[in-house]
Amino acid sequence: MFHNRARVVNQRDLLELPLQVQLVDKTSSDCNQTGTQLLAIYSSLQESFGDLHWWPADTDEEMVIGSILVQNVAWKNVVQAIELLRDQGRLSFRGIFETSQEELEKSIRSTRFYRTKAKKLKAFATYLNDRHDGSLKNLLSIPMHPLRIELLNIYGIGRETADDILLYAAHQPSFVIDTYTVRIFERLGYSPPRNEYEFWRSWFMKHLPAEPRLFNQYHALLDRLGHHLCTTHNPRCSICPLQSLCTFAISPKNGSVSSSPHALF
Ligand code: SF4
Repeated sequence: MFHNRARVVNQRDLLELPLQVQLVDKTSSDCNQTGTQLLAIYSSLQESFGDLHWWPADTDEEMVIGSILVQNVAWKNVVQAIELLRDQGRLSFRGIFETSQEELEKSIRSTRFYRTKAKKLKAFATYLNDRHDGSLKNLLSIPMHPLRIELLNIYGIGRETADDILLYAAHQPSFVIDTYTVRIFERLGYSPPRNEYEFWRSWFMKHLPAEPRLFNQYHALLDRLGHHLCTTHNPRCSICPLQSLCTFAISPKNGSVSSSPHALF
């Protein structure tokens, strides 16, 4: 789960974001009703939260390392580990490859499950070294579908992490699903035939334009909403930008998801 990764947004950032307008123009001609609803949700979030500039990393290697470290821990813990790795000259897969498991564990101790995560980082570094001459750029140059399969075959890379890497390092239009996304859209009244990662991902990708910048910002906005407003307990619906669109918020029970959700497929 991701927390507090947004950089400071100023008014100039908002004024320089023509993407939203481009997408609305596109929906009027060739997207379906669900796509229009998804873009309306996006627009409401965008208007409230602005451009969040994900992923907060200076290099693709830092992004991938962060995507492994953030598994099951708050982002603030990851920042500590990233800074320590940077200070130690280990914030690269070459650096990780040349660092012992024991030393790596010490560097990332702030991220919980640090022994397992050190193994995952070493596995990724070894994979790059053995299969791509140590070059992340080589790996990321593979087309999206085969790259996703390849990433999922690396130890420690699950679906969410693979899609993070595809979207935020390879800049491919692969929609990222996480706990926040599922909770928010279930409360909005959407329900897939099977509540599984691939169903949710396919649904978003079927109904949204395959635009990496849109997917980038959409996931960041959902993270912001899920972390600050649409929380597991006592969601703050009264100040949520999606309140007027949300089945949960307008339910008489106000605590249960509607019995007649939108069909996903
Ligand atoms: S209105 Fe409430 S339940 Fe609906 S998305 Fe917003 S915070 Fe979540």
